Amino acid sequence: MSRILLRGGRLIDPAREIDEICDLLIGDGAIEGIAGPPGAGNPEGATPIDVAGCWVVPGLVDPHVHLRDPGFPEKETIATGLRAAAAGGFTAVAAMANTSPVNDTPAVTRYMLETAAGVRAARLIPVSAVTRGLGGRETVDFAAMIEAGARLFSDDGIPIDDQAVLRAAMEQTGRLGFAISLHEEDRALTAHGAVNAGEVSKRLGVAGIPAAAETERVRRDLALAIGAGAPVHVAHVSTAESLDLIRAARRSGAHVTCEATPHHFALDERAVLRFGPDAKMAPPLRSQADLTAVVAAIADGTINMIATDHAPHDSHSKRIERLGGLFSRDRDSPRLAEDAGEALTDAANGVVGLETALGLVLELVHRGVITAARMVELMSLGGAQLLRLEGGTLEEGMRADVTVIDPNMEWTVDPTKFISKSRNSPFAGRRLKGRAILTIVAGNLVYDGRTGVSA
Ligand SMILES: [Zn+2]
Repeated sequence: MSRILLRGGRLIDPAREIDEICDLLIGDGAIEGIAGPPGAGNPEGATPIDVAGCWVVPGLVDPHVHLRDPGFPEKETIATGLRAAAAGGFTAVAAMANTSPVNDTPAVTRYMLETAAGVRAARLIPVSAVTRGLGGRETVDFAAMIEAGARLFSDDGIPIDDQAVLRAAMEQTGRLGFAISLHEEDRALTAHGAVNAGEVSKRLGVAGIPAAAETERVRRDLALAIGAGAPVHVAHVSTAESLDLIRAARRSGAHVTCEATPHHFALDERAVLRFGPDAKMAPPLRSQADLTAVVAAIADGTINMIATDHAPHDSHSKRIERLGGLFSRDRDSPRLAEDAGEALTDAANGVVGLETALGLVLELVHRGVITAARMVELMSLGGAQLLRLEGGTLEEGMRADVTVIDPNMEWTVDPTKFISKSRNSPFAGRRLKGRAILTIVAGNLVYDGRTGVSA
């Protein structure tokens, strides 16, 4: 295996409180160490790569993606999803269990890992279902799923309604040392809502999803977690009140982490008027006040990590043939056809995010909302800790999962150029500043953005 010398970059490793210009030497798949001072001699056999002006950070980790494999190759496959992840700067992504078949047996987990092993891209970290078939009744064999390679448990996409089932699952996974990631939604309150309950749902004439559909479930489940004494993780937090509940639960001793998605901190409900089904997801884009609360919670540490909730869908699932002409992307004059709301209700939930997440988080850095070091905590360390991965830092001897970011490269989001198989992005046309230029997994260059192609 070759040695690589990343020369002259800004190494940012908040776990070790390092933020300095230096060289980083990688060899034998592991971090050999800081080879400063910058510009010193070339270590034997090392290929130097000039990364001056760039950030060298621990590989990005996404704790929440949907790769649709097995089951839905028209939307995404493990190969396309992991390549899209690498192009977005991710070295590891946690793949949710709502595939077909559901990942509720070691055989499915092994299929996912074996398929991923044949792809030169990001690592796949399997998420096991909590209940068989995501049915909400009978729990999986947690120990067997961990043995097969699962690092997190979630029925994501579907809430676990039965408190007794969830409480028992929390106790078992807690004993095994792994968290449950909770998709918090009270479906009695969601009803058949398509978007947030508010100005946009009124304008479209569709049923709205109230904030309470999320917050009431967060309230219930944090109480359960405190009772069980088990670690829990709240997925895709979207409301101000959910964040207050999480802060309060921590003060009561709960071991609770949480994530926010780029779409919930970068867009509010009005994006639906422009992007229609490509801005529809669960939980929905919320009010401006909720967005402001999510941004504040990212800055103050309440939110531990960013997750894309990458949810690829083909155009048929998004009802594009019915909706394509109903929404205008003209920023200044959103124009809606009469039946836009009705058709929107039928469209699938979810947006792709792997190839835009870093650029959107960098918006927060460029605006001065968070520091570069905080960005690394949110996009690498937080997910690595949740999933108990070797990663999140660039300590000597650690596996060499490294991302090199050009923070100043300006580009325009063009979904037709995504490596992902799907195009359902509400960020089409957005100008972003910064992207990954090198993604290194176990010392191997798996994405080279200098050439724009997978390595
Ligand atoms: Zn979810």
